[in-house]
Amino acid sequence: MAERLARLGVTRVLDLLLHVPLRYQDRTQVSRIGEARIGEDVVIEGVVEHTAVVARRRRSLLCRVADGTGSVTLRFFHFNSGQRDALRRGRRLRCIGELRAFSGGVEMIHPELQFELPAPDSAPRLTPVYPATEGLHQLSLRRLVAAALQRVTDGDLPLVELLPEGLRQRLQLPDLLAALQTLHGPPPGTCTDPQRLPARRRLAFEELLAHSLSMLTLRTLARTETAPSLAAGGDLTARFLAQLPFSLTAAQQRVAAEVAADLSASRPMLRLVQGDVGSGKTVVAALAALAAVEAGYQVALMAPTELLAEQHYGNFHDWFAPLQIEVAWVSGKSSAGARRAAHEAVKTGAAGLAVGTHALFQTDVEFARLGLVIIDEQHRFGVHQRLALREKGAAQGLRPHQLVMTATPIPRTLAMTAYADLDCSSIDELPAGRTPVRTAVLSQERRDEIVQRIRSACESGRQAYWVCPLIEESELLEAQAAEQTADFLREALGGLSVGLVHGRLRADDKERVMGQFKAGAIDVLVATTVVEVGVDVPNASLMIIENAERLGLAQLHQLRGRVGRGAMASSCLLVYKPPLTETARARLQTLRDCNDGFLIAEKDLQMRGPGELLGTRQTGQLSFRVADLRDDADLVVGVRESAELIQNQYPELIQPLLQRWLTQREAYGNV
Ligand code: ADP
Ligand code: MG
Repeated sequence: MAERLARLGVTRVLDLLLHVPLRYQDRTQVSRIGEARIGEDVVIEGVVEHTAVVARRRRSLLCRVADGTGSVTLRFFHFNSGQRDALRRGRRLRCIGELRAFSGGVEMIHPELQFELPAPDSAPRLTPVYPATEGLHQLSLRRLVAAALQRVTDGDLPLVELLPEGLRQRLQLPDLLAALQTLHGPPPGTCTDPQRLPARRRLAFEELLAHSLSMLTLRTLARTETAPSLAAGGDLTARFLAQLPFSLTAAQQRVAAEVAADLSASRPMLRLVQGDVGSGKTVVAALAALAAVEAGYQVALMAPTELLAEQHYGNFHDWFAPLQIEVAWVSGKSSAGARRAAHEAVKTGAAGLAVGTHALFQTDVEFARLGLVIIDEQHRFGVHQRLALREKGAAQGLRPHQLVMTATPIPRTLAMTAYADLDCSSIDELPAGRTPVRTAVLSQERRDEIVQRIRSACESGRQAYWVCPLIEESELLEAQAAEQTADFLREALGGLSVGLVHGRLRADDKERVMGQFKAGAIDVLVATTVVEVGVDVPNASLMIIENAERLGLAQLHQLRGRVGRGAMASSCLLVYKPPLTETARARLQTLRDCNDGFLIAEKDLQMRGPGELLGTRQTGQLSFRVADLRDDADLVVGVRESAELIQNQYPELIQPLLQRWLTQREAYGNV
């Protein structure tokens, strides 16, 4: 039983109380047998008139129950003698099940039976239907939850109210015991959707509060540590800005100033920079890196994929070489010799900046004086990886500063929950001169037309992407699909050069193809979703996304952001495989009509939930028992305020709250 319960996330008696019903059944209305409707789930109450085991076609137990208005036959194919004996003549009981017509009479097959009838004066309650699992069914779950509740009311199971009275009154939240009693058996006539029940919302609030406190605790801990103060004269910065072919947008300047202020302090910065795709986050990262280098510290820049890390390496190398700053490339895939040289440069401090994937935080990478960690496209990394990198610490017991950049704008509610340990800056403006990408939704049956579009774009000197997203959960199949598409395009576009990148290519092959595409030697790049994050080729003006109906809105927006990076008009074709469901059509149209990453992210959260926006790692950490960020988004602001209130005025409540709601793994403060 314990093992089955564990499958439902129940390992403590308390967890039973936090097991939220899926829905409720109204069994408070008892029907008269003579008036009950055939084919419906009904509750009837009567007296056993006759019970017998018959062996006609199949051995079965039959029992006639009457209530004065009629009688019904209960039929059981599986039964034991105990069950048979319980149905003795004269016994009063309730039967719950579907009423069926049967040779002139009515019957119920395997109805649920209740021999203990509610006292006539007890308040009627709806019956909860719980998420169940194999070998553990509704009846057992109901019994277990009822027993747990009984232990609480009897005082056997201490259940402390952890929300201060004043807070509950202000937010109009019911007290804990009342909330649990209502959740597991609300009175009829109230709302029957557990998601909307104030009782559940109170529990969701408490759960979100616990998560928020855990993040705040982590943040407070981090703030007590010392970081190197990275305030320099700004000479490198000025030289860097002078060599850029553009000037910063007002938003970039504002965010860069927020970052610079954090860096100059001697407590570690923990800042999240979000901005729509193409808003120019990389330059802001470069400015932060320069401040660190000028102050005599090293910088680690980590990206989630080799491809993106390589691109950053290329960019930073080009930017920093004229400033005499050495950039090291730390890749798990480099040759042993190259890797040793890179590690050496990092260890001696010769390299001011090290760029790489998570290979950067392997134990054999040692920094001489790490002062700043920059993490790009954060949503692919979890909190724990972020912490591991922080452990790399600067010399003399100093903690490095941390700058986290997300590719996907994150709705405020989600950011406040998933990144509550970070301060947040938004680059909410695109560089001037960008023409919005025109988006069209079309069926894959119009392939000829699509090919024509590619041809004319390439003939006028532009380039195109063709993205084949994951169709099955297999990198191999995805790579094969991309290969087939590339073959098809090579044939259809004779004379144009078609390149191919996918996750199964060797790193140097990928790099070579990307390099050729960037240099304009390849006209059309066929790619799997590896191009999703960060890839920057301003001359590309056409993006084709196959099987678009299978991708999330935020991801599609990300992909679309690969074009429209220059001044010329760009287009994105969202190609679907018919037939398209109504919802899928509506989703694609949302994207067609909207270019604002923040709005799109909100919609994606509504439609698909937080997992899609944050990636799988983050989702693991955001799997709440009771709360659901779609239904409970409106609680988040109050939660954050309350967490601060509790931290300041009721710090003794923090530990009990964390213990009630978070598993060991989730208690970030304990890492
Ligand atoms: P993202 O925020 O998506 O990471 P990038 O940092 O890759 O965006 O920048 C997108 C493109 O815009 C790059 O080609 C970059 O050089 C360019 N860019 C960045 N800032 C500006 C600016 N202020 N004016 C014009 N172009 C800019
Ligand atoms: Mg980027």
